[in-house]
Amino acid sequence: MSLPTLPRQDAAAPPDCMTLLPDMEPGDPAVMRAVLEGAAAYEPLAYSADDAQKALRAAARGDTLSPADLGALLAPAAAPLLEDAARLAQQVTRARFGNAVGIFTPLYLSNYCANGCRYCGFSRNNPIKRARLSLEEAEAELRAIAATGLEEILLLTGESPDAAGLDYIAAACRLAREHFRVVGLEVYPMNSADYAVLRESGADFVTVFQETYDPALYATVHPSGRKRVFPYRFYAQERALRAGMRGAGFGSLLGLGPFRRDVLAVALHARLTQRQYPHAELSFSVPRLRPIINNDDLKPEGVSEAELCQVICALRLFMPFAGITVSTRESPRFRDHAVLWGATKVSAGVDVGIGGHGGAGERAGDGQFEISDRRSLAEMRAMLLARGLQPVLSDHSYV
Ligand code: SF4
Repeated sequence: MSLPTLPRQDAAAPPDCMTLLPDMEPGDPAVMRAVLEGAAAYEPLAYSADDAQKALRAAARGDTLSPADLGALLAPAAAPLLEDAARLAQQVTRARFGNAVGIFTPLYLSNYCANGCRYCGFSRNNPIKRARLSLEEAEAELRAIAATGLEEILLLTGESPDAAGLDYIAAACRLAREHFRVVGLEVYPMNSADYAVLRESGADFVTVFQETYDPALYATVHPSGRKRVFPYRFYAQERALRAGMRGAGFGSLLGLGPFRRDVLAVALHARLTQRQYPHAELSFSVPRLRPIINNDDLKPEGVSEAELCQVICALRLFMPFAGITVSTRESPRFRDHAVLWGATKVSAGVDVGIGGHGGAGERAGDGQFEISDRRSLAEMRAMLLARGLQPVLSDHSYV
C-alpha cells in the first residue's frame, strides 16, 4: 500500500508569495484586493455592543448584513450577546435549510505532500509514515464506506502532484461516483482546465482553505512549495466554479493568526465569489488548529468554543444560504450543539489516516491531525434524530 520509492518532492520556495508562477492561472484581482483591504482595515476592538445589537436587529429584519455588521458580530463586544445571536442563527438556519443536516465522510487517498506548512502533520518536513492508496485499494475503501450507508464522500490528498496527479485523482473521482451520489474534493489548487477534468470525472465540490488571509503570516507558515503562492490559492474556488463545479468550500484555520480578521476575510471572499457565481453552492468550514504528530512546538492562538460559536453564528447571519461544516476536530458535545443553531453538515465514521476504513487492509499512512469525535454514521444519525433534525445522506440526484 505504501510507496517507499517515490522521490521526496523538490519543493523550492518561490521567494515572493504574492506573485503567481508562470503556469498559474489567475483570478479576479479586484476580489482579492477587496478582501485583503477589508481584512487589514478590520479592528475588532473598535466595535461596541451597540454595533452588534444593530447588526442583530438587521439580521432579524432579514436585511443583508454589511461587512461592518459582520465585523460587529465577530467583535469581542458581541460576546455577551451570544445567546441572542445563536437564537437568531437557529431561526435563519431552519428557514433556509429546514431540519436537514448533511452527513459525509472523508477518504484520505495520499499523505504525500510537497509543501512545508508549519502547522500540518502532512508537511514534507514531518517524518511520518507516508502512503498512497492504489486505485484498487481506494475502491476497496470506497466500497467499505458505502456499505455503511454513506452517500457523500470527500476525497483528500496531500498536495503532491507527483504522488497524486490529475490522472490519479480523476480516476479516484470516477470510482467514487460509482459508489456515492455526491463527491467533494480537497486537493491541491489547480487551473480551471484540470478542475474541468475532475468535474467531468464526477466531482461536485472543491474545498480549498486559505488558512490565513494575512499575507505576511501566510508567507511565514508556508516556507516551501507551491502553496506558498497566496493568490493561486485565493483564486482556487473561482477557477473551480469557472470549470463547472456545483459548489466550493472556503475556510481559514482558526487560531493560526488573529481569527476574527481571518473569519471576516473568508466571509468577504465567499460573498464576493457568490456575486460572481450566483448559482454556486458555497459553504464554510471552521477548523480550529489541532495537535499534530511530531510537533509539540505549535503554539496556536487560542480560539475557545464560545468564540467558535460566535464565528458560526456570524457566518450564518452574514451568508444565510451558505452551508457550514463542523468537522471531527470538534468534540461530540460541541457538534451536538452546533447542528442546532448553525452547522448544516457534519462528518461521521472518520479516519484521517491513509487506508483507515478497513476496505484496503490495515491503515498504511499516518493521519493529518488528531480527531475528537469518532462516532459512526449510525451514532450521528441517532444524535440528529434525537434533536428533531433530519439526517440527509445526499442532497442531489443525477438523472
Ligand atoms: S496543509 Fe495541506 S499543503 Fe500543507 S502540509 Fe498539510 S497537506 Fe500539505
